[in-house]
Amino acid sequence: MDYKAAFRSAVDQIREEGRYRVFADLKRQRGQFPRATWTRQDGSEREVVVWCSNDYLGQGQNPVVMDAMKAAVDAHGSGSGGTRNISGTNHDHVLLEAELADLHGKDAALLFTSGYVSNEASLSVVQKILPGLIIFSDEQNHASMIAGIRNGGGPRKIFKHNDLAHLEELLAAAPADAPKLVAFESVYSMDGDIADIAGTIALAKKYGAMTYLDEVHAVGMYGPRGGGVAERDGLMDQIDIIEGTLGKAFGVMGGYIAGDAEVIDAIRLMASGFIFTTSLPPALTAGALASVRWLKAHPEVREIHQERAATLKGMFKAAGLPVMDNDSHIVPVLVGDPVHCKMISDMLLADFGVYVQPINYPTVPRGTERLRFTPTPFHTDDMMRKLVAAMEKLWAHCNVARMGGHAA
Ligand SMILES: *Cc1c(COP(=O)(O)O)cnc(C)c1O
Repeated sequence: MDYKAAFRSAVDQIREEGRYRVFADLKRQRGQFPRATWTRQDGSEREVVVWCSNDYLGQGQNPVVMDAMKAAVDAHGSGSGGTRNISGTNHDHVLLEAELADLHGKDAALLFTSGYVSNEASLSVVQKILPGLIIFSDEQNHASMIAGIRNGGGPRKIFKHNDLAHLEELLAAAPADAPKLVAFESVYSMDGDIADIAGTIALAKKYGAMTYLDEVHAVGMYGPRGGGVAERDGLMDQIDIIEGTLGKAFGVMGGYIAGDAEVIDAIRLMASGFIFTTSLPPALTAGALASVRWLKAHPEVREIHQERAATLKGMFKAAGLPVMDNDSHIVPVLVGDPVHCKMISDMLLADFGVYVQPINYPTVPRGTERLRFTPTPFHTDDMMRKLVAAMEKLWAHCNVARMGGHAA
């Protein structure tokens, strides 16, 4: 067997489909966010403005967070020393879990090494805790939720995206006495649309289902204290399990779930992805703790963030560029073709110092290829004007469709 040839042909296939990925090599410069230095493949450099970071609020460079991380290394060293059960529970794990439980108004929270792991580990173990559990999953749920649900191995029903009528149809068709769980997200990050959380809770109650809500693209950013969309809408107490990340708006790394003490305790005792891995190190837990606390107390950052997103949407619309409208902080602009999408992204970077990653199939359906902008409180009007001017030039150059019609 020619193993290398098999690996090569797998790569070739991806390349043929136009899905070969090349990393943008960036140096984030402290104090310069959202500017960064991009290193080209020939080793030369250029300053760029990053328009697609998930460091949504610039917390990755908040001095309060950085100081906490540095102090933690000085006080406690580099690693955590083990898994949570075997010498790796540091005092900051305990404090951070209490802080996150408080953020979501829950009894308890449980940390994982990433948001991905928190979803995979939690959703795969609930089927062991509740034998016969049927999981109802939104068709656009994140890969980490899908992985958890699949690995759990139990029955699953996929409902059409944000389609409560379809969800109800599936719930009604399931045996009334079977345990059920509805798994969904608040902000879906590629379209930036927001789930009907109240409507989903109402259906879950009607059919006796638990609810599991991924608030990864909302924690830190929505609600009076950054508890997410469920906090904003006054619904946190009616969601059974809230999942979040410390790696996006909180600007550090790690993931978690929050819920009732019994629920969290069972997952803590049984989830493989929690038990058999080294816990988060002191710098990360201390940084996350500082970030969560700081964002709880700074609602004005959330207001500026929403204002920046609305302003950019308005500027794109005024220029006739096809913004995919939504009620969130995410600003997707439709290109509708994978080759054009990649080309525009490459030209924005090389010619205009604008870094925005093309979003192509399979991340989004074919024909809906797009550029996805995530303006932060640190993106200025001037940066936005330059971005829109560059986009207008490229739209004309590439002959891509504008609003309300198609290019010839
Ligand atoms: C990014 C993401 C995750 C994973 O979070 P990480 O902390 O980056 O592992 C989970 N769910 C959704 C919806 C995400 O977009």
